[in-house]
Order: sequence, then C-alpha cells, then structure tokens
Amino acid sequence: MVGVAVALAGMATREILAQQSTPVSSARLYVLDCGNLGGDNPLAMGAYLIVHPKGTLLWEACGLPDDRIEAGGNTEGLMSNLQRAKSTKTLRSQLQAVGYPASRITFFAVSHYHDDHTANANEYRGSTWLVQKVERDAMFADGPPPRFADPNFYSALKNAKTTLLNGEHDVFGDGTVVIKPAPGHTPGHQTLFLNLPKTGKILLSGDLYHRQSERDNHEPPPAYDTNPAQDGESRVAIEKFLQATGTTLWIGHDLARLQGGKIAPAYYE
Ligand SMILES: [Zn+2]
Repeated sequence: MVGVAVALAGMATREILAQQSTPVSSARLYVLDCGNLGGDNPLAMGAYLIVHPKGTLLWEACGLPDDRIEAGGNTEGLMSNLQRAKSTKTLRSQLQAVGYPASRITFFAVSHYHDDHTANANEYRGSTWLVQKVERDAMFADGPPPRFADPNFYSALKNAKTTLLNGEHDVFGDGTVVIKPAPGHTPGHQTLFLNLPKTGKILLSGDLYHRQSERDNHEPPPAYDTNPAQDGESRVAIEKFLQATGTTLWIGHDLARLQGGKIAPAYYE
C-alpha cells in the first residue's frame, strides 16, 4: 500500500510539472474556494485564477489570511472585521495544487479594496497589479483607512509593479479577459469579463451585487457604498452590457453559485 501511495504522489507531481511546462492553448478559469462570511445566510468568498496562453491573472485574494487558516481548522472569531468568517483551505495551497504558485501569477487584481477580497494581497506583490487609479489613491490616502479595508492586507502592493487604470482594460489584448469598471461600491470598484471557448461569456461581479435576490428585486445599492448613486448607475450600465452581449453574471458572494459550480482543481474552459 505504501508503494501505491508513493506512486500516486509521484504521478500527481509529474502532472503538475507537465502543466507548468505546457502553456495552455486557450483561456481557462479556476474557481478557488475562500470559505464564507458565516452567519445564518452566509455569503461565499471566492477567488479566480485565469490561465491564458499569454500569462495568468489572479482575481481576488480571499477574506482570511492564509497564515491564520489551519488545515481543517475553524477560523471563526480570528478576524476583527470578519468575526464569523470561515475557511478550511488556503488560497496558496489551492494555487499550488494546480501548478500556479505566486511566482507564476503574471497579473493580480481585486474587484475592490474591502477586507473580504484582499486578505492575501501582499503575497502577490511580485505580480503586476492592475488597479483603477482612484481605487489605489483611496487605499493609500493619508489619514484613516477606507471603511471595511485593512491596509495591512495590501501594504506591499504600494511598491508592486502597477498598471494604473482609468476605465476598461483588456488584460491580454485579445478581448477574452477584460476588466470593466463599475464604481460606487468603492471609488474604483471593477468587474471582470471573460470570454471562454466552451463556457462562453461571463462577468465576475465583484460586489456589484451580493445576492441574486438583490438583483431580482431591484434592491437599492448598500447605504455603506462610498457612492450608492454611482453604484446604481454602474448596475444599469452593466445590466445593459450583459443584455447586449449575452453575458452571464456570476455573483461572487452567491454561495449557491460557488457550491454548485466547478471548484479547482476542476476548471472552466
Ligand atoms: Zn465583498
């Protein structure tokens, strides 16, 4: 039995090495499980790795720092802002398991600076950070940090190689991975459009909505937005875009969406 286990472990390593040395021929999407925010009707937390023939993009960095998550452990109560958040898997281990550790992440971006999206941002300081200029300005402004932000999570990005954005950004230049701004939740909140060969067109929502019911019932944007009226305008603009292009919206905090879909190491093509 020991021999079998060693052989299997060896094969897994070889597969990962093969993945690392073989560039993909078309874009693929890995959904990474960051746990949930806890409570009675918990919101999911997810991160996303896009592997493209020209490089990789990590989108979002979870809400619990990897170093606080013990294998199978309960992280409840560990975080000051996210008292009930739970996760059993580190972002780092999930990326390593599919052959893309931090050293292989070309671009790093988050939808916005809130702590439930940025907990491990510092780990990706060696990547090129893609951020709206107004968002970065708010993150590193003098005075108290922005609401729901933990500057310790992203302090290392200050000196990272950075591409400052002022609107839409086609990450790999072929229209398959495009950052689309949707400001209001934070000053430079952004969403991510993907056009995958088999899955088709999807838009990763960031926090444009938190639950499907908000969207279905046309609920107003949260009062704690930095600019709720602007968030409302972003929702209108994004809904128009979705309709015009036949794009499906994936709400990042939707637990049913996350649990009902593929989780890494499985991936969308
Ligand atoms: Zn959030």
